[in-house]
Amino acid sequence: KLYNQVQDLKGSIRVYCRVRPFLSERSSYVSTVEHIEDGNITIGTPSKYGKGCKSFTFNKVFGQSVTQAEVFSDMQPLIRSVLDGYNVCIFAYGQTGSGKTYTMVGPKDLTEENQGVNYRALGDLFVLAERRKDTFRYDVAVQMIEIYNEQVRDLLVIDGSNKRLEIRNSSQTGLNVPDASLMPVSSTSDVIDLMNLGQRNRAVGATALNDRSSRSHSCLTVHVQGKDLTSGTILRGCMHLVDLAGSERVNKSEVTGDRLKEAQHINKSLSALGDVIASLAQKNTHVPYRNSKLTQLLQDSLGGQAKTLMFVHISPELDALAETISTLKFAERVA
Ligand code: ADP
Ligand code: MG
Repeated sequence: KLYNQVQDLKGSIRVYCRVRPFLSERSSYVSTVEHIEDGNITIGTPSKYGKGCKSFTFNKVFGQSVTQAEVFSDMQPLIRSVLDGYNVCIFAYGQTGSGKTYTMVGPKDLTEENQGVNYRALGDLFVLAERRKDTFRYDVAVQMIEIYNEQVRDLLVIDGSNKRLEIRNSSQTGLNVPDASLMPVSSTSDVIDLMNLGQRNRAVGATALNDRSSRSHSCLTVHVQGKDLTSGTILRGCMHLVDLAGSERVNKSEVTGDRLKEAQHINKSLSALGDVIASLAQKNTHVPYRNSKLTQLLQDSLGGQAKTLMFVHISPELDALAETISTLKFAERVA
């Protein structure tokens, strides 16, 4: 294997944390992040609001000033292992507004510099595939789906059709959602077009007050097939880049109807994901994959030889403190 260094990382599950910067320049902002050093982050409540500090340890913690390029370069060996036939899952977890989409996709005004992991990952796979072209031939294709209220929807449809899709565990083709559009890609401009289409479809049905994208999981799946040109051996790898629904708890006394139903679905699927990763981390023999669509979808890419990165995001503001602590506890449980 060319990217052995990936295996030097402890275990096949790693947990990263990123702190979003403050969104405007008000000097009166108080950060709940007291200290970051190596994989440690200390969250504190300023004394006038009560006391106490809590520290958490992860594989990596990125502070407010870390760039998209720095975040990506840390994940690069993991991503490159897809070309060696590994399955990889990367999850962005955190409350709405904590920077999940920023990490995976980027901000609204996208430039080359602030592009997120999705673009960089595919761009990097193309570069590496080109570099190996004398020994391997790689084919790369992507699918992009959304899970909303435990229903799976294709995000790469052109006519905006809203067909519900089934999850099948078809190890033969490696396609768990065989009816979702599968688009071959060979250049970064192909990727940009498809990402735009996917983001547009994700916004369908959303109103200003009803941002559906924060209440659905979106999953960009990259399928890679590599043919060893000397032996003829075929390698298959697959990478899922998942922008999860917001993890914030809603106040049950304040929401009803559809909003409550959404919240319950999100709650259930995020805890199912936490349960699966925690039981893999503990090397349990029974892993409860069947409890949500998300974990069913990713079953082949979680556990076994697969590599998982749980990337949690936190907001530094004081009013986010309770959610910040709950996010970090979720992360600690799966670490
Ligand atoms: P989420 O997807 O978790 O709801 P977003 O990614 O949409 O959160 O981030 C909320 C806002 O903060 C967006 O305007 C986004 O551009 C901005 N933002 C998030 N993370 C960063 C960052 N690391 N640097 C600069 N702006 C950021
Ligand atoms: Mg988002």
